[in-house]
Amino acid sequence: MNITDNITALKGIGEKSAALFHKLNIYTIEDLMRHYPRDYESYDMPVGIRMVEKDTLQSIRLSIKKIEGVKKVKNLQILNAIGGDSENTIFLTWFNMPFLRNKLSSGQVIVRGTPFIKNGRLTMEQPEVFTLAEYEKKQGQLLPVYPLTKGLTNNAITKAVKQVIDSGVLKKEYLPIGIRKEYELAEYNYAVSTIHFPKKFEDLVYARKRLVFDEFFFFVLSLRLLKESTEKIRNEFEFSKDTMTNYLLEHLPFQLTKAQKRAFEDVKNNLRSEYVMNRLIQGDVGSGKTIVAALALCLAAENGYQSAMMAPTEVLAKQHYEYFEELRKQYDLDITPILLTGSMTAKQKRMAKERIEMGMANIVIGTHTLFQESVHFDRLALVVTDEQHRFGVRQREMLMEKGNNPHVLVMSATPIPRTLAIIIYGDLDISVIDELPANRIPIKNCVVGTSYRQKAYEFIEKEVRAGHQAYVICPMVEEREGREAENVVDYEEKLKEILPTDIHVECLHGKMKPGAKNDIMERFASNQIQVLVSTTVVEVGVNVPNATVMMVENAELFGLAQLHQLRGRVGRGSAQSYCIFVSGSEKEETKKRLEILNKSNDGFYISSEDLKLRGPGDLFGVRQSGIMEFKIGDIFTDAAILQAAADMAGEICENKEVLEQQEYWELKKCLKRYLDGESTSLSL
Ligand code: ADP
Ligand code: MG
Repeated sequence: MNITDNITALKGIGEKSAALFHKLNIYTIEDLMRHYPRDYESYDMPVGIRMVEKDTLQSIRLSIKKIEGVKKVKNLQILNAIGGDSENTIFLTWFNMPFLRNKLSSGQVIVRGTPFIKNGRLTMEQPEVFTLAEYEKKQGQLLPVYPLTKGLTNNAITKAVKQVIDSGVLKKEYLPIGIRKEYELAEYNYAVSTIHFPKKFEDLVYARKRLVFDEFFFFVLSLRLLKESTEKIRNEFEFSKDTMTNYLLEHLPFQLTKAQKRAFEDVKNNLRSEYVMNRLIQGDVGSGKTIVAALALCLAAENGYQSAMMAPTEVLAKQHYEYFEELRKQYDLDITPILLTGSMTAKQKRMAKERIEMGMANIVIGTHTLFQESVHFDRLALVVTDEQHRFGVRQREMLMEKGNNPHVLVMSATPIPRTLAIIIYGDLDISVIDELPANRIPIKNCVVGTSYRQKAYEFIEKEVRAGHQAYVICPMVEEREGREAENVVDYEEKLKEILPTDIHVECLHGKMKPGAKNDIMERFASNQIQVLVSTTVVEVGVNVPNATVMMVENAELFGLAQLHQLRGRVGRGSAQSYCIFVSGSEKEETKKRLEILNKSNDGFYISSEDLKLRGPGDLFGVRQSGIMEFKIGDIFTDAAILQAAADMAGEICENKEVLEQQEYWELKKCLKRYLDGESTSLSL
């Protein structure tokens, strides 16, 4: 067995379960080892019922007072029991586990689950059951909790990982000992086995540091090498004309902010310079990045070139397309925008591709599939990516394969400090849009408990009557067992009943077909729908300036950066906007976190405060941003490791001869695989 082998090389994994692993993007043994736990379970001392905390996973020591006979309801076999101690009782229920009766009759047991109040009683559903001896064995370990997919259990993944570790096929250590000493990094094999099965928390922290370092190191090093190779690409495009673009600029209903003007100037200068542009425009949500990109795209069109704009979601791509259509009609611009997304029918796609290839359309808007589909561009001179992690090495290579070296513009709202941005976007020049359009009135925020809901609905009704619209965000799509969070499907029904019938309520979520999603979004944008109940699919980029209320249910379940993005959906027009964060948790730390949002509308401030609240031990808390997709590292909490990795990458870049030394051979091999894209671990 080899680390690059297919996972079917493992005992117990046949084609069928391999297909499940594939759903998690696990194809090789190496992928499996990089499928890091998302959390760890520790089996702490069990508590007595008196000490139970509601809505928190824990183990409870109790004796079984009563076991009811197994009841059949529809296709469910329900087993009820009552557990207790001298003073208190807890109601226990299991579904389709009649065999537990035996174990329960032993009297003293430990149950592990999340207690809650149901029909006025303390209740636990589907808890794990242990005898005292069984539990004792589990205590004192940290057990991995993996991201799962339907049909694949945590146990199955755990077993597979164990098998690999036991077989000893892991990779060779590839960092020279000197470097490991300098940065205090664990040995590679130790780090990998420990991240899956740590003995104690300190070991986990040490192991994780090594893996985070590796991830950042390869990322930064490849960026540096990329920068060296792209810096010198000559600009073969001629961008001398600007009459149409200036016309548009002068006739917009608003003046660009100073920061927008500066960003556009930067772009224009690049387009006209000796070398190809690689620029990042960074600006908080609502700072008006789209128009800057639009101007650049118009400039390309005006100079006889094709350009492309990629968005991370279809909804956003569609919105951008409509925006360009709108501009074209309103200002009678000589541009032909075209949309190309994955959900279009084969025929629609074929026609769109034909038009692109023949140069009949000159502003191509789509999702990142633009580069996977066999699209042949005609004189492509500029590629803009909106709200994407970044424009990676792979995509750039794909462009080069298309025989082109277009200018590249990346737009991002990720609020990262400049020092980090310089590392992460090391190959890009940066323009910062650090002011909001002047007509903006700051959003009014409130953090409330669930008892406030009725008032919130009344408020939404009032805003709708004033001609505005509202978003209501729920964390889940539909009801799931054991989770107490609000879901979009039920919430839509509920709101339809509560709000007057002439207020149109609809829902939107990721499980809907792309066509249906687009339809809902369009109707919301044109105010045929007044209240949109949605998951976070509207999180990035969506622009409906008439919406003035953002109500977020279970705000405690979201990261602050994410809540800030959600809030960015309102306050986009000239009317006063409101954000209502409904917290389902009474916990003090939750209140503190949400209070940060309450106090500030500034993305930078929010992420830095959030960071302060999270100690270095909080490795697996809510991730800061899902926007930079590293597998294990977090650019915010691991900023120091990122800096160290960047330092080392810098040293190697400046002194490439070291790579020829024998102790660097392994590293060189790994780097080559990484750059060739063979190593799938990293999110380039
Ligand atoms: P983001 O930076 O989050 O992508 P958008 O580009 O979607 O923000 O802009 C948000 C809203 O602000 C849009 O409705 C846009 O038309 C408007 N807008 C952009 N620039 C200005 C400006 N200088 N003055 C007034 N409104 C603006
Ligand atoms: Mg945007």
